[in-house]
Amino acid sequence: MKIIIDSQTKTIANKKITIVKKATDESKEKTLISEPDNHSNITISLSTLCDAIDVRSAGYSWFEKLKVQKETEATLIVQDIDSQYILWLIEGLMLGNYSFNKYKSAEPFVIKSLVTNAQLKQSDITRLQNLIEAVNWAKDQVNEPGNKLGTTEFAKRISQLCTQSGATVEILGKKKISALKMGGLLSVNLGSTEDPALGILTWKPENAINKKPIVLVGKGIVFDTGGYNIKTSNYMNDMKTDMAGAAAVAASVAYAAKQKLPIYVIGITPITDNRLQSAAMVPGDVIYMHNGTSVEVLNTDAEGRLILADGICYAQKFNPEVTISIATLTGAASVAIGPYASVVMGNNNKLLNKVIEAGNCASERLVNFPLWDEYAALIKSDIADLKNIGGREAGAITAGKFLEHFSTASPFIHIDIAGTAYIDKKLDYRHKGATGVGVRLFANFMENFQVAD
Ligand SMILES: [Zn+2]
Repeated sequence: MKIIIDSQTKTIANKKITIVKKATDESKEKTLISEPDNHSNITISLSTLCDAIDVRSAGYSWFEKLKVQKETEATLIVQDIDSQYILWLIEGLMLGNYSFNKYKSAEPFVIKSLVTNAQLKQSDITRLQNLIEAVNWAKDQVNEPGNKLGTTEFAKRISQLCTQSGATVEILGKKKISALKMGGLLSVNLGSTEDPALGILTWKPENAINKKPIVLVGKGIVFDTGGYNIKTSNYMNDMKTDMAGAAAVAASVAYAAKQKLPIYVIGITPITDNRLQSAAMVPGDVIYMHNGTSVEVLNTDAEGRLILADGICYAQKFNPEVTISIATLTGAASVAIGPYASVVMGNNNKLLNKVIEAGNCASERLVNFPLWDEYAALIKSDIADLKNIGGREAGAITAGKFLEHFSTASPFIHIDIAGTAYIDKKLDYRHKGATGVGVRLFANFMENFQVAD
């Protein structure tokens, strides 16, 4: 969507416009959008009670009104509103202006351009466009069906995205992964017809403010059947989305490169599917991870932590400033708080607060779960160093505790997006389907990152 600044833009006869202004009655709704008919203007009133999520949601509602009016070239007249609010509003509009349409014959409704008199900086507009492009890329991958996005194809797309954005990419194939003894990734891959892959995506500008990289590790299970612990009923239906963490990581590194952020960041994306074949893992198997830790696999559907653990181990050789994993990891996270926020946990409060703050800035809210030592007892195995499942209690936390074990050289933070990566109905500024969660959060985190003294 093109954004054109024209300070002369004002009400034009015979042309529908959108007017955004301060609410006159603060006691009523925080945001108010008029119900326009086909001929009338849309009015958006914002009160001082609005926060970022309210305004982004108003932006999405605005998109829906324009869609009803079939207005593909929008005009926005701003009356005395701070530019931060306008940027949130346009962001909401742009997030709504997405559809996954490649398998449909009908053309989708798309807003092509927006002309406004708002005094926005060109750098803010460029940032927004790069950000939405990154989010849309992530959404596209998550929406893509399993038969169109296998391991090889996903790795290829990540490689293309990063190269085009200016980041460097290395994709490790099975031979290298075997030489590195990544038993988690190799074992989950045993039931697959495609070889596993591990992406290492790097943005390291000369003016980076951090010497030690921020490392993001994203789960890339392109399809999850559960393996021999097969998913029953309709629990398998949306399992094409189980690579949303890896998509968010790749999009975030690409965004950093595109925006030339002065941040040294590395993305690690272990990729495979989790399927059933005679060679696939069975419950009770013991495997060895990249750092030599032995793991008793008591549930083949708790496979995400196995591939992430190898990615997190591998990340330690870069001596990270912080290791952050992001994954559609546990149903427990989704059951606990629903699609309204993602779950976060970590062992460094200062960094954890920065990540939570970034989530608030992006309206990608995070709820902090504990990562206390007591939880480690729940993943002790009788016959190996760890087991990959901790029982019914605290399922999201025991998964995080399992991962923390492998972040030996750096503070560790884990984000569980099982409830937020893909939603089955519209919610606030998010439409049905893939949300691209994580990308705007990481963008904010990197943009506000400061090295600790
Ligand atoms: Zn699984």
